[in-house]
Amino acid sequence: NKMGIALVGLGNYSTEQLAPALQETENCYLAGIVTGTPSKAEEWKNKYNIPEKNIYNYENFDQIADNPDIDIVYVVLPNSMHAEYTIRAAKAKKHVICEKPMATSVADAQRMIEACNQNNVKLAIGYRLHYEPFNKRVMELGQQQVFGKVQSVEAANSQDMTKDSPDVWRLDKELSGGGPLMDVGIYCVQGACYTLGKAPVAVTAQFGEITNPEYFNNGVEQSISWKMEFDNGVAAECTSSYAREANLLAGKAENGWWRVSPAYAYEGKEGETSEGEMDYENVYEQVHQMDGQAQSFRNNQESIVPGEMGLRDMKILEAIYESARNNGKRVEIS
Ligand code: NAD
Repeated sequence: NKMGIALVGLGNYSTEQLAPALQETENCYLAGIVTGTPSKAEEWKNKYNIPEKNIYNYENFDQIADNPDIDIVYVVLPNSMHAEYTIRAAKAKKHVICEKPMATSVADAQRMIEACNQNNVKLAIGYRLHYEPFNKRVMELGQQQVFGKVQSVEAANSQDMTKDSPDVWRLDKELSGGGPLMDVGIYCVQGACYTLGKAPVAVTAQFGEITNPEYFNNGVEQSISWKMEFDNGVAAECTSSYAREANLLAGKAENGWWRVSPAYAYEGKEGETSEGEMDYENVYEQVHQMDGQAQSFRNNQESIVPGEMGLRDMKILEAIYESARNNGKRVEIS
C-alpha cells in the first residue's frame, strides 16, 4: 500500500532525480505524470509502466480528483507556476509536495497553505537536505550547541549559468520570480535557519554588479550577498551568484567550528569540524525525502518541511530583495 505520486512537470529534476528515486522508495511510488508534451508522456509511460489513465496534461489535470491511484501531487514546474498547480491539486483533494522555492511571493505562499487547509490535505516543500546526514549533523551541532553557542554562520551557493543558453526560465523573472537567491541562495537561507533552529529578525542585502548583461537582462540579479541577523546577536553572512560556483555551509561556535562543502549538491558532500573529518554516508536524499513526506501524509501529520516553512522562507527572500533594492536598508522580518 505505497502512496501514489504524480509528478507535474517532467523537466530535469523530475527526469534525473525524482523518477529514479521513486524506483527505490518504500512508502510511495511513481503512479502518474502530468505533462504538456505528448512525446514525454509516451516515453515515460513505457519506461515506468504508467497506465494511460494516470497520465494527464495541464488542461485535464483537475480530473486527477477522480483518480484513486494518485494520493500525492508533486509540483516540479518553474517557480511562478507552483502556486497554481499546488492550489489545483489541493482542490482535487490530493496531498502536495511542492518544489523550492515554494512560490514567487509571500501572498502566493499564503494562498497555497490556505487551499491545502481548506481541502484537508497536507503540503510539504521539496527541502531534501533535511533528510541528509551532513546537513542533519549541522542542525545538531548548531541547535544542540555541541560546541557551545553558535557565534556566526557562513553560507554560499552559486551556480554558473553563463555557460549554457541565456534563453531559460531561470533567467526570466516572470517564471523564476528572481535569480540565484530564489533558486540556490534559498539553500543558504535554509542552512542558516536550521543551524540556529530559528528564523532571522532582520536582513541587509546588496546586489552584485551585472558583468554578463546578455544573461541578466530579464529582471534577474546576477549575484547577491546578504546578512541575516538572529535575535541573539548572531549573524549569517551569505552569497549567491549565477556567474560562478560555490557550495558551502559553515559555522563557528564558542568551542569549535564546522564546514561542509559541497553542502547542497546531490552527491559528494564532504565536511570537517574542529574535531576532524565528518564521516557520513552520502545518501539518496530524494528517496528519504519522499518516503518521509509520504509517511507523514499517511499518518495525517505535518511533514518536517511543511508549507509553513516554505512561507517563512518566502518572507525572508522578499525581505532580502527589499533590502537589496533599497541600497542595503535593514529590513525587519515580522
Ligand atoms: P526544468 O526547466 O528542467 O523543467 C521544468 C519543466 O516545466 C519542464 O518539463 C517544462 O516543460 C515544464 N514547463 C511547463 N510550463 C513551462 C513554461 N511556461 N516554461 C518553462 N517550462 C515549463 O527545471 P527543473 O530544474 O526541473 O526545475 C523545476 C523545479 O524544481 C523548480 O522549481 C526548481 O527550483 C526545482 N528544483 C529543485 C531541486 C532540488 O534539489 N530540490 C533541484 C532542481 C530543481
